[in-house]
Amino acid sequence: MKIEQARKYHKIDAVIVGAGLAGLRAALEVARSGLAAAVVSKVYPTRSHSGGAQGGIAAALANVSEDSLDAHMFDTIKGSDYLADQDIVEHFVNEAVNTVYEFEHMGVPFSRTADGRINQRPFGGHSAPRACFAQDITGHVLLHTLYEQCLKHNVLFFSEFQVLSLLVQNDVASGLVAWDIREGGLHIFHAKTVLLATGGYGRAWKVTSNAHANTGDGVALVLEAGLPLEDMEFVQFHPTGLYKHGILLSEAARGEGAYIINDRGERFMKNYAAAKMELAPRDVVSRAEQTEINEGRGIGGRDYVYLDLRHLGREKILSRLPQIHDLALNYLKADSIKEPVPIQPTAHYSMGGIPANIRTEVIKDAAGTVVRGLYTAGEASCLSLHGANRLGTNSMQDAATFGRIAGAHMTEFCRQNVFADLPTKPLDVAQGKIDRLWSGSGLERHAPIREELQENMTKHMGVFRNQDDMLRMLGIIKELQERYRKVGVDDRGQAFNLDLIEALELENLLSFAEVIVEGALARKESRGAHFRSDFPKRDDANWLKHTLAWRRDGKIVMDYGKAVVIYPQYQPQERKY
Ligand SMILES: Cc1cc2nc3c(=O)[nH]c(=O)nc-3n(C[C@H](O)[C@H](O)[C@H](O)COP(=O)(O)OP(=O)(O)OC[C@H]3O[C@@H](n4cnc5c(N)ncnc54)[C@H](O)[C@@H]3O)c2cc1C
Repeated sequence: MKIEQARKYHKIDAVIVGAGLAGLRAALEVARSGLAAAVVSKVYPTRSHSGGAQGGIAAALANVSEDSLDAHMFDTIKGSDYLADQDIVEHFVNEAVNTVYEFEHMGVPFSRTADGRINQRPFGGHSAPRACFAQDITGHVLLHTLYEQCLKHNVLFFSEFQVLSLLVQNDVASGLVAWDIREGGLHIFHAKTVLLATGGYGRAWKVTSNAHANTGDGVALVLEAGLPLEDMEFVQFHPTGLYKHGILLSEAARGEGAYIINDRGERFMKNYAAAKMELAPRDVVSRAEQTEINEGRGIGGRDYVYLDLRHLGREKILSRLPQIHDLALNYLKADSIKEPVPIQPTAHYSMGGIPANIRTEVIKDAAGTVVRGLYTAGEASCLSLHGANRLGTNSMQDAATFGRIAGAHMTEFCRQNVFADLPTKPLDVAQGKIDRLWSGSGLERHAPIREELQENMTKHMGVFRNQDDMLRMLGIIKELQERYRKVGVDDRGQAFNLDLIEALELENLLSFAEVIVEGALARKESRGAHFRSDFPKRDDANWLKHTLAWRRDGKIVMDYGKAVVIYPQYQPQERKY
């Protein structure tokens, strides 16, 4: 296919994939400088998963009690189980304070202290109340405010466009190709800079807090372009997912004082993290919870425990945690004012992702060689700020702060460079994917393959891992990839062809899931969210290093040359809470 055959060809300085906090914040930065910025998003912008974030956004404002940038830095490093790059953490905590005040000046309706300052609540792993919040709908108000600001500054929106291929050759990005979900047809976006802000990928699991759109398209596109992914084995399980649904009950509940109890009515965290109790980091609490369940102390011996808010009282629950109250009531008919709510760990956050440097430029190897014009921010990226385990409320801050930083560097790059040439056949890869599905034998369907993947990932790649389970999972993924080749899509329609979209997303899930399992199999230690019952100790002598993984000739190839950046004052130590 030639360029002329594409439905549309767009030439825009900065093309941003993703309309979550990271994408919108970057777009705003570019647009404010006067350059053209376009946001391409497969969901309508305000439906991005960022809008579902509840609990808060971290910054050491010290509005409620003493706090410092150093404390925020140390908590983040300790929370990461020492895998975070400390130069990135330092940059992050310094910028985080500005990011919150900028949001305030844009009009974000933060909850306030009695004397009018931005209120802050405690969150797991943070040594001071640091989470700025708006009730329990913090992501919602941040996302809507940013979207309005983007409209005000004339950001172009291509909503309901699904990116199907990246245009990268000789380590230079020249744009991307996207499918118009509403009307059908491929569009070429020719850009000087591309930002991948495609969010997380919890949808590879059955029990997950993530939105349906979180299928890891961005990370899969990067793999397909021959570039590496970093630290993919680290996936966070949040301890308070609604039983069976996985829908999140924010850590804000525990921040406000909620308990977690087992079948005996015990606050069992006293046996695992006596100093921090329910406000230990998520990896610690999820493991404790899963241990209680595995040892028969789940409620009625079953696979869940309780989140207990009753002692907080009706007024606090309804004023501070209204969404949590509604979710429990609507999905489990549990009135959290009167009864405890059944919960279980839920696949929640991806620490790993697309490797990038402190300027958010995507890198292609351990030496840090930059792919020119290609940037990444937010949950899809791995800078690495969160290392092996992220602290709650550091993620929206990560997306917004590094989104802004990405926007600034993209602007600078656009000013200094001309448009790179497109590949000679820019549409080939994207068109090939669609043609394959439309001409597929149809002996297989995408839905059952996806279900098998998700069920098995929940079963074999959960809070606890071991070699046998992971080898089994790897075999299942290979088999499902093989079956995927026979998937056919009957619907040839152009408008809202969700059959086609979901089949395309499944290819991505099957692609990066393999990297997660391979990375986890190779890493013979336990660190942060990656816990192996066959290697239960952290092993700094052999494993204090990042994983980079490529797909080469159909195989996953790994390299460990990317060292962790560690400052003299924050040397690894045993992690106790
Ligand atoms: C339920 C829940 C609650 C959370 N609560 C908190 C919290 O209280 N505090 C906190 O700090 N963090 C929280 N997090 C984590 C945090 O919300 C996310 O990590 C962060 O918002 C991610 O932002 P993002 O911009 O990277 O991606 P997202 O907001 O996920 O946006 C991704 C964007 O990429 C687009 N996209 C993806 N693939 C394609 C494609 N192929 N083509 C076109 N567009 C594409 C989507 O349309 C979407 O616009 C929570 C997460 C969840 C799931």
